[in-house]
Amino acid sequence: MPTDRSVPDSVSDDNEREPREECGVFGVWAPGEDVAKLTYYGLYALQHRGQEAAGISVADGKQIVVFKDLGLVSQVFDEQILSSLHGHLAVGHCRYSTTGSTTWENAQPVFRTTATGSGLSLGHNGNLVNTAELLVRAKEAGVDMRGGATTDSDLMSGLLAAAAADKGLEQAAIELLPTLRGAFCLVWSDENTLYAARDPQGVRPLVLGRLERGWVVASETAALDIVGASFVREVEPGELLAIDAEGLRSSRFANPEPKGCIFEYVYLARPDTTISGRSVHATRVDIGRRLAAEHPVEADLVIPVPESGTPAAIGYAQASGIPYGSGLVKNAYVGRTFIQPSQTIRQLGIRLKLNPLRDVIRGKRLVVVDDSIVRGNTQRALVRMLREAGAIEVHVRIASPPVRWPCFYGIDFASRAELIANGLDFDGIRRSIGADSLGYVSLEALVAASEQPKTRLCSACFDGEYPIPLPEDAMIGKHLLEGIEAKAVSGSAAPVLANGYGAEDALRRP
Ligand code: SF4
Repeated sequence: MPTDRSVPDSVSDDNEREPREECGVFGVWAPGEDVAKLTYYGLYALQHRGQEAAGISVADGKQIVVFKDLGLVSQVFDEQILSSLHGHLAVGHCRYSTTGSTTWENAQPVFRTTATGSGLSLGHNGNLVNTAELLVRAKEAGVDMRGGATTDSDLMSGLLAAAAADKGLEQAAIELLPTLRGAFCLVWSDENTLYAARDPQGVRPLVLGRLERGWVVASETAALDIVGASFVREVEPGELLAIDAEGLRSSRFANPEPKGCIFEYVYLARPDTTISGRSVHATRVDIGRRLAAEHPVEADLVIPVPESGTPAAIGYAQASGIPYGSGLVKNAYVGRTFIQPSQTIRQLGIRLKLNPLRDVIRGKRLVVVDDSIVRGNTQRALVRMLREAGAIEVHVRIASPPVRWPCFYGIDFASRAELIANGLDFDGIRRSIGADSLGYVSLEALVAASEQPKTRLCSACFDGEYPIPLPEDAMIGKHLLEGIEAKAVSGSAAPVLANGYGAEDALRRP
């Protein structure tokens, strides 16, 4: 396996267009099944949640074997590798980095050996906000980061492994989990038992499924469908599950205070996933209907920015009576390469991903529906491209409110200064992207479409109301563990960021 390889920016790494997702986690306990292949297909269904690295660990009662690498699930694993992974339980992970850089050492599952000699393999979806505090505790407990690793996930695995030496993994988790702050869906195992836990706010989704001969936990219900598991229920916020030969055990490590991420409905989750009983696809169509009611316009054709804008565009067309059509073709594969584009190719910009259907667009007044605007660069290029293709009017409609605040719970939005809605009012944004008109759906309409009470949702990137308190200092940020100065390690002073990353965001929050 490679030991030190960093992934270059891929062609698709245009934060200009998309908020980048976090990670996907998958776990299966199923004696007699090919757990490695089940996990492979589970991760395949969750690929949209993380495309930088993928890994699977299997345990057979005696040992844990981990295989992971940078790249897509289909690039990391082949038939030969999967057929060498034997066991009765497995943990899978696909990663997009929200803490720590994209290196092999930061790929997951993270593996540790406890003082008793047993193994521990852990995958994490989410982002902690008290990582600096945990680092101090880890140093006090004599826990080191594994060589080259710089993630909050590695820190958690180290704290778990250290505590497990005295009290066993389950009890160690019951004591550690209440001290974690932030978003975490964890799936981990030792040689015999599969564990899963979800933070008390349940920011990220995590579900439990049933196989004929076992159990599955996964980030999204779509991953249950693809491995033939039936949906049992969501893992409750503040719940720890343990699954082994004695069956499934559930315990509470904290009282639930649900604050599910509303952005999962807008963009992050697969449309064929269900969250809190609500279909993501149905939510997106409903957002489009409400968008049409809030921001009507006279036009000839509604087109989506594929794929994530498609359901909302369908809803907009249904509610407005304006015909729906495909005006943009998305190259589904261009974003899946790690080959650096040449300068000539790079100058094509948005055309690498989206190409207009000129015959459809020419001479039309268009309503263009997209899921969100982060920096605005892509929408600007898109509007220009549609005009060049012959559109006579371009009306942009956005299926979420303006993104004004960064996410500290596992989504890698731009820093606040880079968010277009942070510096400009609506008309300023409209002029900046060159649209004839611009309309965002309201937060009230978005909440109503999700069919969840506002009190059970996180919408901090839209309204700045962070449901999990953030640290007082600038002790937050993707590269925190790469920039903390040595005095933090001694515990003699509050940790200080050496690289400054995150300081701006933390200081500007309300
Ligand atoms: S800040 Fe936004 S993206 Fe982050 S968890 Fe909250 S709603 Fe989701």
